[in-house]
Order: sequence, then structure tokens, then C-alpha cells
Amino acid sequence: MRQSNFRLLRIIISILFFIPTTYILIDFYGLVPGDVKKWILFLQFTPSVLNFITIGTLSITGFIIILALTFLFGRVYCSSVCPLGVLQDIINYFSKKIKKRKKKFIFVKENKLLRYSLLALTIIPIFFGINTFLVLLDPYSLYGRIAGNFALPILAFSNNGVAYILEQFNNYSVYPHDIQKFNIVPFAIVFSFFGLIAYLSFKHGRLYCNTICPVGTLLGIISKYSLFKIRIKEEECLSCGACARDCKAECIDSRTKIIDTSRCIACFDCIPSCPTEGITFSLKSSASSSDDSINNSKRNFLTKTSIYLLSLSAIGASVQKKIKITKPSTIPVFKENAVSPPGSFSLDKFNGKCTACHLCVTACPTQVLQPSFLEYGFTGMLQPHLDNSAGYCNFDCTICSDVCPTGAIIPITRNDKHLAQIGIAKFIKENCVVHTQKTDCGACSEHCPTKAVHMIPYEVKGLVIPEVREEYCIGCGACEFACPTIPYKSIYIEGNSIHKTAKKNVEEKKLEKVNMDEDFPF
Ligand code: SF4
Ligand code: SF4
Repeated sequence: MRQSNFRLLRIIISILFFIPTTYILIDFYGLVPGDVKKWILFLQFTPSVLNFITIGTLSITGFIIILALTFLFGRVYCSSVCPLGVLQDIINYFSKKIKKRKKKFIFVKENKLLRYSLLALTIIPIFFGINTFLVLLDPYSLYGRIAGNFALPILAFSNNGVAYILEQFNNYSVYPHDIQKFNIVPFAIVFSFFGLIAYLSFKHGRLYCNTICPVGTLLGIISKYSLFKIRIKEEECLSCGACARDCKAECIDSRTKIIDTSRCIACFDCIPSCPTEGITFSLKSSASSSDDSINNSKRNFLTKTSIYLLSLSAIGASVQKKIKITKPSTIPVFKENAVSPPGSFSLDKFNGKCTACHLCVTACPTQVLQPSFLEYGFTGMLQPHLDNSAGYCNFDCTICSDVCPTGAIIPITRNDKHLAQIGIAKFIKENCVVHTQKTDCGACSEHCPTKAVHMIPYEVKGLVIPEVREEYCIGCGACEFACPTIPYKSIYIEGNSIHKTAKKNVEEKKLEKVNMDEDFPF
């Protein structure tokens, strides 16, 4: 193949990775099975490393393939596999169009201190179970959050528009998608990062990848030693600078004919720009090259729906219509622990592995998984938690555990899920309408799938009031979500910092199975 075609090949491979990765991150219909999602994400570097650390089987070796590819060909992960890298290329493409003249880059010296400090700040705390920097900077996770917060709402809005138009013609083939909740603070954080990345790529191409991204820095260290590299053939080079002006990694110094291979992302944009074939992608022996001369002496070795789109919002609304709240509740709810998804086993394990890619948030059919702000503390910011003001964790659902690519949520069976106690319901009698308004309710008990919340006689004759049998509670939050009291709920879920196993309620077998596809039964 002619070397000038390498760029075209890179673009084709990028598209083949970018489209499926983006699709699964915004797959609100849940059309792609969890196993397929994992295969699509197989080569994503950070999830693969974390998954390998968690599960430790050789089937999760995507990162090893990436390391091998980097050793052979340089940072092809950054140019073709990483969705954030491709997004930057897309922004850069439009920046050229907007500027109406071909955008020109110039060589910029490497900011070693910043690069290696950020890499160290990302890697070292992981050994102490803290992955704050990894969550904030990991490119795949950053892209997941951008897709989930921007692309998904646009898609959902368009979908709902089409559904509405078709409904006017009695065509119900498109289902509207109900967005349960909008969290302003996590959105603002994602927006800020997106703004920063968009600005950097608009102005400086791949500056994020070459200066901030810890994965880019790590792969950059390996690519210094890669077998195939972009090299300048001194005998053919005219020193015209055309390659440097097209290098979005800003790593070609045409004046000294040196290429900083640790920052080269193997995009091959420079090859067709050279008027004399003075730049080549080759083995060291096949070209005279000065790339390795770069600071050899200072090399630094600092080395990560069917499940029920069951919008309980409709149920919540029907409860509120039936039970008129005339007396606001008075006891505020303070949760000590956030509730992490079933399969995450403990808050520490979860916070140590989750990269906040939001794949599970998108996949969760009840939308109970929402990005956190400070629910897990500062170090767990943006990681998903179960927010029962948005939904509840469906009894039979294991989708988040099926899709999580990092091992933060380990796959669990439906039977295990039925007894996984992620939190425990706490009842505040002083907030309950049975107590404050002397009226019937029982929404919490109606929706409790294990009947951990059951109704017992109240002091006023004929009325019953909830009681929690903690040993049967799994912390799914159906009670909290269904509870109609405002502003504070009368029943809420306190998270278990270490998940436990609930007892099986033998009464459960006799209970009539609640049809989750129907509206709340009163
Ligand atoms: S198990 Fe619960 S939290 Fe996870 S996707 Fe299903 S409903 Fe959502
Ligand atoms: S728990 Fe969710 S957000 Fe965290 S890594 Fe797994 S899929 Fe991504």
C-alpha cells in the first residue's frame, strides 16, 4: 500500500470504532445486548486495565493488544480507537472549515512537567483505591459522559418529536423516551470539560491527548520505542515545514528535523502533505531518522428493554393525584451513604474501579442510575449512584452489571440480584401521610418487591402504617420512589457501604406478582 493511503486507512478504522462506540453510549432503547457492548469496548484501554485488575482473566486482554500495537506502530489507539481522540479530529475538521483556510499548526515544545505530573497523579492514587484523576481525565470515560449528556438528550428529543408526529397519524411505531431527571451540577462539570476539549482541539488539534491525557502519556512512553515510526528522511527533506503545518499533534520540528514520537499519534496527516516523500512511516533501519535523538539523556520512565422502560414517574404522579398532600412533611432526609449498583459489592470497591463513563447510566432502563455530585464524596464525583428521586432499581434487572466495561459492577445473576442488599429502607413515621393526615396510603408497601415494607395496624382504627423488616429489604428504592410525601420522603434508602445479602421472604412466593408494565395499582 502506498504510504499516502495510510491516512485514509486510519480514517476508515476510526469511523469503524467511533460509530459503534458512540451508539452504545446513547443506546436508550437498549437494542445492543450487554455482551456485544463489552466486545465493542474490548480495546478501550482504561476499562480493559481496570477489568483485568478486577477479574484477572486473560479474556480481558484488550489493553495488552493495545500495548502490543503501540510497541509495533506507535499511538494508533489515540488516532483510531479512542473515541475522544476521534471527536477532537471532528472538531478540528470543522475548525478548518470555519476558518475557511487550511488550519496551520506549529511545533510546540513538550510540557514534560505537566504531562508526567498528571500521569503520576492518575496512577499513584489508584494503588490507594483513589481514582479521582482517572475518572476526570480518562479519555474513553470523558467521551462517554459527553455522549450521554449531549448526544443522548438531542437524540431523545428528536425521537420524541418523531413519535409525536407519527401519533398524529395513529402510528405508534416509535416510542417516546422519558428523560426522568436532569442533574445540573454533574452536567456543568461535563460541559466544562467538553468546552475545554472543544477549545483545545479547535485551536491546537490534539493538545489534550499530548499534554493532559494520562493514557496518551503512558502510550507515548512506549511509542518512543515503537518499531514503526513516522520518520524524516534527511536526504529528501526540503525543510519546507509542510508536514509540521499539518501535524495536529504539533510534534514535528521541521527546523531541526526532529519528531517527538512520544506525542505523535500516528494519524499520518503529515505523509501526504510532504511534497518530496521526505516523511515516511517505517522501521528504523529503512530510513535515516533523527526522531530518537530527542532528549535521550533525559528519558523519564514514569510509568490506566425489555427491562421495562417503566417510567415510575407516571406511577409517582398517579400516587400524588390519589393522595392529596395537604400537610408538607417536616423531617429532612439525610443519607449517610450513597447507594451503589448491585454487583458493585461495596462503595470502596466501586469508587476504586468506576471511571464514570456513564455506559450503565445510559443503559439503566429505569434511569435510577444518575451521575453523583458529592454523594460519594469528592473522590467519587460523577460516578453513578442510585437516585430514587429519579427511579428505582428494577427487581429483575441486571443490565448495568452486564454492560460495565471496567469491572466496577461485576456481572450478577438475577437470583443473586434478588437478594443483593445494596441499602436498607428507613421509615420516618412523622413524615408519613397515614400519621400526618390520618389517611390511607401504603404506596411503599405496594411497590416493595420483597414485601420488606408491610403494613401494620395504626393507632387510628381501620388505618395501617408501614413497617420495615430490614432483613428482607434489598434497597431497590421502589418504596422511596413511590412515596408521595413532599418535600421530604417518609421512607428512604440508606446505602450499605458494604453490600449484604438479604433473607428470602417466604411470603414473597404467595404474593401476587406485580405487573411492572401497568400503572401503579391505585
Ligand atoms: S440493576 Fe438496577 S441500577 Fe442496574 S440497570 Fe438495572 S435497574 Fe438500573
Ligand atoms: S459503573 Fe457505569 S460509569 Fe462506572 S465504569 Fe461501569 S459502566 Fe462506566
